[in-house]
Amino acid sequence: MLEASCHCGAVRLEIAARPLWLTECNCSLCRRRGALWLHCHPAEVTFTAGAGSTAEYLQGDRTLAMHHCPTCGCTTHWSPADPAGQRMAVNARLIDPQAIAGLRIRRFDGADSFDFLD
Ligand SMILES: [Zn+2]
Repeated sequence: MLEASCHCGAVRLEIAARPLWLTECNCSLCRRRGALWLHCHPAEVTFTAGAGSTAEYLQGDRTLAMHHCPTCGCTTHWSPADPAGQRMAVNARLIDPQAIAGLRIRRFDGADSFDFLD
């Protein structure tokens, strides 16, 4: 289990499973956010604080909502705009670095080919 918390602690999440890798995306939004994504199924994520309190931003194609803490501004996660969506991602920068040390980081070309660059 991995724990993630925004800087002020208002938003806290637990991720049930350790991922095989983390993803750095170069799309127009992710590169600005500077997030490091831990992709998972929504059922694997539990909010222990701040559920429903995050501010959201729907990007161009409106397929996903980017969330951040309204108090400290940290990007916390993205969720599928469709409630039945099977994928989401938590910002691994909110996890204690020691807890994710050694995990592979894969670069994803969200700006162009929509494929991994490795
Ligand atoms: Zn916060």
